[in-house]
Amino acid sequence: MDAEQFRAAAHAAIDEIIQYFDTLPSKRVLPDIEPGYLRPLLPSSAPNSPEPWSSIQPDIASKIQPGLTHWQHPNFMAFFPATVTYPSILGELYSAAFTAPAFNWLCSPACTELEIVVLDWLAQALALPECFLSTGPTRGGGVIQGSASESVTTVLVAARERNVRRRAEEEGLVEGTLEWEDRIMELRPRLVALGSDQAHSGTAKGARIAGTRFRSIPTRLEEQFELTGPALRKVLEECERDGLEPFYLTTSMGTTNTCAVDRWAEIKAVLQEKESWRGIWVHIDAAYAGAALVAEEFQHMTPEWAEGIDSFNLNMHKWLLVNFDASCLFVRNHLDLTSALDITPSYLRNPYSETGTVTDYRNWQIPLGRRFRALKIWFVMRAYGLSGMKAHIRQGLTLGEVFSGLVGRRKDLFEIVTRPAFGLTVLRVREDVCMRALKRKINGTTSSSSDEKKKKEEEEEEEEDGTAASSALTKQIYELINARGEIYLTSSVVAGRFVIRVVSANTNAQEKYVRRAFEILVNITEEVLGVERTEEEWKGKGKEEEELRN
Ligand code: PLP
Repeated sequence: MDAEQFRAAAHAAIDEIIQYFDTLPSKRVLPDIEPGYLRPLLPSSAPNSPEPWSSIQPDIASKIQPGLTHWQHPNFMAFFPATVTYPSILGELYSAAFTAPAFNWLCSPACTELEIVVLDWLAQALALPECFLSTGPTRGGGVIQGSASESVTTVLVAARERNVRRRAEEEGLVEGTLEWEDRIMELRPRLVALGSDQAHSGTAKGARIAGTRFRSIPTRLEEQFELTGPALRKVLEECERDGLEPFYLTTSMGTTNTCAVDRWAEIKAVLQEKESWRGIWVHIDAAYAGAALVAEEFQHMTPEWAEGIDSFNLNMHKWLLVNFDASCLFVRNHLDLTSALDITPSYLRNPYSETGTVTDYRNWQIPLGRRFRALKIWFVMRAYGLSGMKAHIRQGLTLGEVFSGLVGRRKDLFEIVTRPAFGLTVLRVREDVCMRALKRKINGTTSSSSDEKKKKEEEEEEEEDGTAASSALTKQIYELINARGEIYLTSSVVAGRFVIRVVSANTNAQEKYVRRAFEILVNITEEVLGVERTEEEWKGKGKEEEELRN
């Protein structure tokens, strides 16, 4: 492809991408294909002769698009959003053009320097404490990673090294000696990473990769699944009894299941109780919800992190208008990263790195090479401005309130399981409604025991049965909603309850789609419950739905 052919192909591709976005609402959010659909549509080996763009491009519409799940579709209300915007796409385009795996500053100074600047901009926009800025007092700063899991694994390795090195140094051992190496290897197997039972699975995976143990700390529905001080203390004491050394803790701002926010004041107070707990690395995983910090109404949270927090990550590629991948990791002291990850063979040496005056991001991450991701963040922050970013977040919050408000108006059918947060509503069908529906379906009878003891036993059984009944029917409803394919939702299980999660926060989200999603939820719920209505009631319902749509 020469320059002229590229110009024509790029124009055609851009036109098609714009058309894709423009026509998204008319598509099905989930693909209607079977596993393995693609192989029969493609040749069994790569073409021997070059093909022109005019024969490659049509395959996007005919072969690829039918197999896409449309994350930018206004009816995509599953997982968390993964936003993309035009300025962000432009950033990707330039990044591809300038391709430079800029692992050292000298490999392409603009890549490193822009990253330092835009991550300081972001830290300021989120009102993070000064310690997370490159200009702050603690050698802090930000680095762009590929994913939150990568961020967590990276800091876990840094925390592990900080712990064992400190202890070897305290014992007077000298790095580079066999005694040092032996002691480090003796200490590692007792290390245990912690996170609440709601922390994202990336922490357990990171611990496995880092070769340490992992223990989870129980949370409770009654406490909104927040990690509390007493729950942390209990697990720390258990670890101590078992001869283990907790060295790392993931806390969450917005857990994946329910968007719970952990209780940092309590957590920090507990970690001060014992000398051996004071050095535990505390990380904040704010992969999704951290984006909300651009809005002033959430910034009251951040002063708490000025002390006692070692690192924080936020995926701009979830809710903050930058396309995948852009996981922004901030650390209080970058020397914790570099002393764990800096391995410098002679071929990576250069006069600038030797002076120590430049940042070599290869020592802040696991891979060596890295993409120029700062460009797309720079473009998005400039093209939207902080005001545009805040408006986008507030729109997602408003849509969340609309949806949870609608659910709240149908208390006869649904229960909101946890406090709606950051645009996310977590719901299930009420237990009593499910029990009645199941009984109707099975034999049409209800309990009529007059014996008090028997009645109590029956009531206890019913409580257990109620949870099971709600889980079974909520699951059936959820599966039917996705099978019909007009909207896409995700589910989870919390405190033994099957729940449906609904969040609508991509750039195409709008109130009318949220209202329609609620209508679908109600209709399918009533269908599954076998709600029977008179003609008059159906007419009333039609009116109600009309009102909801408007
Ligand atoms: N942390 C939280 C709170 C998440 O919700 C998710 C994914 O949704 C992750 C981490 C993992 O994100 P990633 O795919 O960037 O590793």
